[in-house]
Amino acid sequence: MPQEITKRRLKGIRKALEYQKQRLEIRERQRQRLTESAARRPPPPRRKDWWDADGEHEMEGSGRPARPARRASSAVSLGPEPDVVGIVVEVRSADALVVHDGAVLRAMLPAAAVIFEQSTSSPLAVGDRVQLQPTGGDQVRIVVALPRRSALTRDVYDPTRREAVHTSQVLAANIDQVVVVCSPVEPPFRPRLVDRYLVAASRDSLPVIVCLNKADLGVREEVERYLAGYSRLGVPTLQASALTGAGLVELKERVAGKASLLTGHSGVGKSSLLNALEPGIHLRIGEVSRTAAGQGKGRHTTSAARLIPLSLRDTFVVDTPGIRAFGIRGIEARELARHFADVAALAPYCAYGDCLHRGEPGCAVAVRAQHDGFLRERLASYRGMLEELE
Ligand code: GDP
Ligand code: ZN
Repeated sequence: MPQEITKRRLKGIRKALEYQKQRLEIRERQRQRLTESAARRPPPPRRKDWWDADGEHEMEGSGRPARPARRASSAVSLGPEPDVVGIVVEVRSADALVVHDGAVLRAMLPAAAVIFEQSTSSPLAVGDRVQLQPTGGDQVRIVVALPRRSALTRDVYDPTRREAVHTSQVLAANIDQVVVVCSPVEPPFRPRLVDRYLVAASRDSLPVIVCLNKADLGVREEVERYLAGYSRLGVPTLQASALTGAGLVELKERVAGKASLLTGHSGVGKSSLLNALEPGIHLRIGEVSRTAAGQGKGRHTTSAARLIPLSLRDTFVVDTPGIRAFGIRGIEARELARHFADVAALAPYCAYGDCLHRGEPGCAVAVRAQHDGFLRERLASYRGMLEELE
């Protein structure tokens, strides 16, 4: 309902403005105090549920920023010193929300080209650590993004555009693991998409977990076999239900003390899982609409990736908008098999040393796949990605 949204937005903006005003006053008071006595340390800044800049979500007990490289040297968070570090919690078209010292700030984005070192060519992402500078008024500007310790990147390619270009999108930076959320039905289980996540996580050196949500809707044997196959590959899998609460204890254990990227096809129930894990965060839940064919298609309900603190110690999740496609780039075609542990294990038995496993005679992977359904699906995933990389 547009009116509802406008009302909520207005409420959010009003709350944010109020908050900015308060911050301005606090800063002014701190500045005055500092001038009076340079030696006196200013009081700690007022804490706020820092990820809740728009006032749309409420959460008791705020978390800390995800392990900043170092805490700012002074509690006067926005002093002239150029090395104030913040964590990006949301990137929007015109600005970013950055948490610094427990408070959320709206930060102006510099031109992407100037903020990153050459090693990190992609634009700002959730989880990035950034240096901030006040710009006068109550605004801050991002001066530079610090090098990332990790990031999960997907390739975005829109062939419907006349000059279709590949762009890489960093889903989240500085994370410890990727939690791929999927569902058995509504939307259906998509092994190709899971395989893409596994390859991307392997390429980006990130551990990955597969979490099958909506287990209450019934898990067909075929889906069970996929999960067993991933387990054999060394990927932890778990079944859960945001609806019944099944598997949530295990999921909680898996994310505790880490920064996790929660990602998956839209409609699989990521927001529902987070709401169930942390009652009180109130993420919006989308309806799964049905097409005539009865295939569940998730509605796009989360508009931007967000870094959210959970009440467990040192625990953060990045909630991403559901995706429909996950492009793979940045791997040499002949290196792709390395990211498929099962394919790689059989490769030494192929007739040709440089076998790419796409129909060459004497391919051991193809032979084994005739008797192994899981491997057959994996080989199909592999070949799909191989085509894309060439
Ligand atoms: P997201 O797009 O991945 O964030 O998915 P949502 O959390 O918005 O959920 C999409 C739909 O699936 C909503 O209608 C939810 O009520 C429903 N849903 C989420 N989790 C479960 C679950 O565990 N079981 C069932 N039966 N439905 C669920
Ligand atoms: Zn082969």
